[in-house]
Amino acid sequence: MTKGSINVTAENIFPIIKKFLYSDHEIFLRELISNATDATLKLKHLSTLGEIKGDIGNPIIEVIVDKEKKEIRIIDQGVGMTSEEVEKYINQVAFSGAEEFVEKYKDKVEDTGIIGHFGLGFYSSFMVASSVEIFTKSYQKGSKAVRWECDGSPEYTLEETKRTERGTEIVLHIDDDSLEFLEERKITELLNKYNKFMPIPIKFGTREETLPLAEDAPEGAKPETITVANIVNNPNPAWTKLPADLKDEDYNSFYRELYPMQFEEPLFHIHLNVDYPFNLTGILYFPKLNKNLDPTKDKIQLYQNQVFVTDNVEGIVPDFLQMLRGVIDSPDIPLNVSRSYLQADGAVKKIASYITKKVADKLISLFKNDRKAFEEKWDDIKIIIEYGMLSEDKFFEKSDKFALYPTVDKTYFTFSELEEKIKPTQTDKDGNLIVLYASNEKAQHSYIEAAKEKGYEVLLLDSPIVSHFIQKLEGSKENLQFVRVDSDHIENLIKKDETSISKLSDEEKETLKPLIEEAIPKQTYTVQLEAMDSNANPFIITQPEFMRRMKEMQASGGGGMMGMGNFPDMYNLVVNTNNELVGKILATKTKKKQEALIKQAFDLAKLSQNLLHGEELTKFIKRSFELIK
Ligand code: ADP
Ligand code: MG
Repeated sequence: MTKGSINVTAENIFPIIKKFLYSDHEIFLRELISNATDATLKLKHLSTLGEIKGDIGNPIIEVIVDKEKKEIRIIDQGVGMTSEEVEKYINQVAFSGAEEFVEKYKDKVEDTGIIGHFGLGFYSSFMVASSVEIFTKSYQKGSKAVRWECDGSPEYTLEETKRTERGTEIVLHIDDDSLEFLEERKITELLNKYNKFMPIPIKFGTREETLPLAEDAPEGAKPETITVANIVNNPNPAWTKLPADLKDEDYNSFYRELYPMQFEEPLFHIHLNVDYPFNLTGILYFPKLNKNLDPTKDKIQLYQNQVFVTDNVEGIVPDFLQMLRGVIDSPDIPLNVSRSYLQADGAVKKIASYITKKVADKLISLFKNDRKAFEEKWDDIKIIIEYGMLSEDKFFEKSDKFALYPTVDKTYFTFSELEEKIKPTQTDKDGNLIVLYASNEKAQHSYIEAAKEKGYEVLLLDSPIVSHFIQKLEGSKENLQFVRVDSDHIENLIKKDETSISKLSDEEKETLKPLIEEAIPKQTYTVQLEAMDSNANPFIITQPEFMRRMKEMQASGGGGMMGMGNFPDMYNLVVNTNNELVGKILATKTKKKQEALIKQAFDLAKLSQNLLHGEELTKFIKRSFELIK
């Protein structure tokens, strides 16, 4: 038996490790199973190389919890270790790794994903165990089994032991303050979280399986039940396979495997697979986005060689794609650094731009292959796409080929199609192309109708970021302007050269304007006299595009909008001087009657903009009844 002192200078390293990793004790199981997996994969590799003669069988990993003995055992049938290897890999390498780790990070308590990257993996077991034993026997001919034990102080024992099977068994003697890990439920939960897709089968207990009845079984025969190993993981998850070997159904069933509580099918998937200049595989899904979506649930999961690392992919996946679901697996993502560092890392930047490109390519191909199906999905994906166009220039460049602009009549144009369609009709006298849009079909109905009557197209742009989005579009092209249909009366929205003739003389106009101004709240409404078609409504309330857009952008957190203060609501009251009613108002002799007419017309205009509420509405209704009496 050898007694020795582990190669470490810090007097007692474990208290520091324990404290440091306090919040993340549970990862000990992931680390030990990762080691068991590595050892088993090495064995398989040696076997394919012919370095190991004979059949290695189907090695599995087993986890056993013994509540009475307060033990957790992790058993593998992998390569095992010789006494020299234990000396080297457990006593020396691991500890120098631990030392380096503690040196480097003793002041920083964030980022606990570090373990396993400093050779600290095995020692994470001391976060939950007061002492740890290793029983191991190497695959190498003639090697003797050894037992190692350490109680968390730098002293260890190493001795020969009886063990005939190849592989390693780790025995954790669970500390009194970590007894929760002796609960079967807890271990099941952890295995599910971290090891669900690891490449070697993991057995945890047994389960009953009912055999199917034989076809010629006599009536009333009871099916036989047998006890089988309870394998908790799927060693061959979809993302490790080739896209060519998978059908849509396979992708959908993998989605259910990933998110068992999700009942809605994803809209489509993107299979990621690249090995240069970095390694990355994965599958991303576009979910149906609805208002009840909880962005903290069912997020993209990040794996490293099939070991779950985190579901916080901030900095790795571009922001606009964080609402997607699925998995990303890469050994090349440096997890031992802080998030802010991650964002600056060159490899990570390349990963983000690769993912962006793949998503754009997928959208292009979906659009090309089945435009109708793509249009049907548009409402569910537009937020992600518009957000992407806003935030990623590369994505914006490609979006020409798939971004859609639906009209209120549900025609879906690409931008160039739209441009071509409206150029002849919606170019104003200064050569600007005016794109009309509505944000709410019902509320803006009369404005939409007025535009349609002129033969104009009206887009329906109703996502919450629309004001930022159109701002971006306007900035990307010369002579392009977006205006909401209710931001002015139709003739002013797209100004043509035609000068319209007013039925009122200048003198009459000068009399009319102050009459109206007196009858309405002047601070909020600016009176604007216009000679319009006599069929157009006499009073129309509009809200100038610029003011409204700035206000919206400010409300949704627009950059650069700070310090502009809160905009008050400002409207224009457009008065159609060619409408018969306006003539009537002017001709009305009694002041009182005149005022009543103005108020009534003004209230009707407000009503059509959904601006009439409370006492005003009550008064309006009373007055209206009086009028028809
Ligand atoms: P890492 O896995 O990052 O190398 P660990 O501290 O987890 O660091 O493990 C240290 C080393 O101990 C491993 O590299 C391996 O050589 C050895 N080891 C740990 N567990 C096993 C095991 N179950 N079977 C064989 N070797 C093991
Ligand atoms: Mg390890």
